[in-house]
Amino acid sequence: MTAVEFIEPMSHDIGVSAAAELFIKAYGCKPEGVWAAPGRVNLIGEHTDYNAGLCLPIALPHRTFIALKPREDTTVRVVSDVNPGEVAEADLRELQAGAVQGWAAYPVGVAWALREAGFDAVRGFDAAFSSCVPLGSGLSSSAAMTCSTALALDEVFGLGYGSTDAGRVTLIEAAIKSENDMAGASTGGLDQNASMRCSLGHAIRLDCKPGLTPLESVSPKEFDLDKYGLELLVLDTQAPHQLNDGQYAQRRATCEEAARVLGADNLRAVAEGVAAADGSIADAALADVLAKLDDETMKKRVRHVITEIGRVDRFVDAFAQGDIKTAGELFNASHDSLRDDYEVTVPELDTAVDVARANGAYGARMTGGGFGGSIIALVDKGQGHEIAQKIADEFAARGFNAPRALPAFAAPAASREI
Ligand code: ADP
Ligand code: MG
Repeated sequence: MTAVEFIEPMSHDIGVSAAAELFIKAYGCKPEGVWAAPGRVNLIGEHTDYNAGLCLPIALPHRTFIALKPREDTTVRVVSDVNPGEVAEADLRELQAGAVQGWAAYPVGVAWALREAGFDAVRGFDAAFSSCVPLGSGLSSSAAMTCSTALALDEVFGLGYGSTDAGRVTLIEAAIKSENDMAGASTGGLDQNASMRCSLGHAIRLDCKPGLTPLESVSPKEFDLDKYGLELLVLDTQAPHQLNDGQYAQRRATCEEAARVLGADNLRAVAEGVAAADGSIADAALADVLAKLDDETMKKRVRHVITEIGRVDRFVDAFAQGDIKTAGELFNASHDSLRDDYEVTVPELDTAVDVARANGAYGARMTGGGFGGSIIALVDKGQGHEIAQKIADEFAARGFNAPRALPAFAAPAASREI
C-alpha cells in the first residue's frame, strides 16, 4: 500500500521567491512585482455557467504566481516552472486569434484580449510562472494563469481595474477571451470569476445570467468548514486525459438547441419557469418541460441542467443552517445527475465518489468539467486523509493511476504578492 500524496499549497514566501528566481534566471534582471491567482473548486452547479445558470465556487489555497516586468516594445516572453528551460516568445502586433501555440497562448492571449478591448496601453512583457495548481485536473490551472496575468498587466500598464470587484469583471472578460479565442479552450466564466472574486472563508454564488451588473452576478456565501467540524477533501483522480474537446462543445450545443426548441433564451430561463421559491423543481413541472422534447439524450441533458441549477440555492441554504446531511445529499444528487444524465463522469470519478460515500462522507461529487479531473467530498474534520487513502487503495486494486489529494478551504482571490 502506497501512502496517498497530498499536494500542499505553496506559501506566499515560497511562491514569490520561486517565481522571482525563475524570472531572474530566464531574463537576467529583477521583475517589477509578483502577483498570484488561485485555482478553484466548484462546490455545486456544474455545467450551468454556459446555460446562464448558477454555480458556487471557492478559490483554492493553491495558487499560480507570476513574476512580471513590462517592456517598451510588443514582445512577450513567458517561462513556467513546468518546463523552466524553455522561454516562449510572441509579438502582440497583428496577432490573430489562435495564432499562439502551446501553453503560452494563455498569458499572451490575455495581453492580446486587453488590446482587442481597446486597452492600447498594454504592451509587451516578460513573465515567469510558478504554480502548485495541478494542470488539467479540473481545478482551473488555466484560470489561475490567465487571471494572475490579467491582474499583473492591469497594474503595470495602469489600467486601474484590479482594485475593485466590479473592475475585475473587465479583467475576467480578457481572461475568458484568452482561453476561448487564443488557447481554443471553451470556458463559460465560472473559473475566472472564482479566481478573481472569491474571498477568504466564502464561496461565491455566481449568477451567469447575461446582462447582470457585477454586484448582481456575485454574492459571497460564508463557507466556514471549521464552524461545523468539517473538512473538504479535494482529490485529483489523475484519470488519463480523454479526447473530450468535442464532448464539451457537444454538451453546449445540445443545451442551446434545447433552449431553442423550448422557445427560451437559455436553459436558466426554462429552469426559472418551473422552480419553486426555494429553487427546488417539482417532478411534474420538469416532466412537462421534458415532454416537449423528442430526443432522449436532449431530455437527459436538460434534466441535469435544470435540476442542477435548482440545487445551488438549496445547498447554500442547507449549509447556512448547518444542515450538513442535506448539503451532502445535494452533492450526491449532483454527481449522480452528472453521471447518469449529463454523462461526463469516468470510472475513476465514480469510484472515488463511491469510496468516499461508503467511508462516511456526507456527500461526494465530481467537480469541474468532467471526463477525468477531480472530486470533492464533505467529510468530518480529520477524516480526509483516511478517506483519500481508501480511495487510493481502491484505485490501486483497480489498476487506475494513483490519485492525489489537496487540502482545501475557501481561500482568497488573486492579489499582488510583492
Ligand atoms: P485546468 O484549467 O482544469 O487545469 P485546462 O486544460 O483548462 O485544465 O488548462 C491546463 C492548461 O493550462 C495546461 O495544459 C497548460 O497549457 C496551461 N497551464 C496552466 N498552468 C500552467 C503553468 N503553471 N505552466 C504552464 N502551463 C500552464
Ligand atoms: Mg481550465
